[in-house]
Amino acid sequence: MDQEDRQKNMKELIKQLAEVWGPSGYEHRVRATLQAMVAPYVEASYVDGLGNLIVRVGNGGKKILFAAHMDQIGMMITYREPSGFLRFSPIGGLLRPTLVGQRAVFEDGTVGTIGVHDQWGTARTHLPDLDGFFIDVSDGQGGDFQHGQPAVIESRVISRGSRIVGGALDDRVGCAVLVKALHDLNKQCANTVYMAFTVQEEVGERGAAPATFGVQPDVAIAVDVTPTGDEPKNLKLPVQLGAGTAIKIQDQGLLVSPAVQAWMVATAEQHEIRYQREVLHMGRTDATQMQLVGRGIPTGAVSIPCRYVHTPSETVDEHDCYQTVALITGLANAPIPDFVA
Ligand SMILES: [Zn+2]
Repeated sequence: MDQEDRQKNMKELIKQLAEVWGPSGYEHRVRATLQAMVAPYVEASYVDGLGNLIVRVGNGGKKILFAAHMDQIGMMITYREPSGFLRFSPIGGLLRPTLVGQRAVFEDGTVGTIGVHDQWGTARTHLPDLDGFFIDVSDGQGGDFQHGQPAVIESRVISRGSRIVGGALDDRVGCAVLVKALHDLNKQCANTVYMAFTVQEEVGERGAAPATFGVQPDVAIAVDVTPTGDEPKNLKLPVQLGAGTAIKIQDQGLLVSPAVQAWMVATAEQHEIRYQREVLHMGRTDATQMQLVGRGIPTGAVSIPCRYVHTPSETVDEHDCYQTVALITGLANAPIPDFVA
């Protein structure tokens, strides 16, 4: 498979992006990977003062901004015990049940093992707070690891039929979808289309506002994963894996206006895109901050259904990814109404 073919294949694209090391605040490797990937498909690009990568294609119609975040959840070393074991705090929404026995990867490639206090005793039934966990980097090159160094949980992406499984799919799958959309647009679009690959979403959507301020779009769309409700005994959520892309109606940080909802739904139906209406009573995305920039920006969100979010085995379906790409290219070419008329 040559480079061009790889960029048409969603599984390959996701694997190339999701295995790159990049916790919040340390997105430089992801950004460099994306810059190389999108270079053939964009007309302009810049990196802003916070580290967001923003690219543009087209110069007609109105300005539309899509955003996907580059960062992944991780850990920050807070203290080194005299014995050499490392203590850590979370970067973003790290889930304690996912940690025991996992591998913590540092930027230089050193892999530590995550252990827990009293593994064979109380930890069998009751996980301690995060200060009851530690990282073991013994007998490696890690003798000089100190506080202030970040790490991520090891991510290896595999596929099982149409399912794609790995860590950091939140939100490298969103980044992959934007790369594929840029590829498919091939510098031809009715609107002036900006795509922002943002920093620090997992620690409170810190990159999204400056990225949006730099573009001043007429409409903004966040592209991120959303949890599904189709696993056994899980939360009652309407979105299902493999049932198409999701058009957000509401989450904890966003109420999409009826006008933006209607525009997105009409575009999906016009292109015969399989979609679901998403209502999420937990979590938020970059859209939370994008809508608040300047005098207010009409804002929506497109979501990729994902099981086991914030675990090392986040699971998406490639068909949902392709439907999401189709909706994004459809919106990039759609007439953009005055949402607040
Ligand atoms: Zn996310």
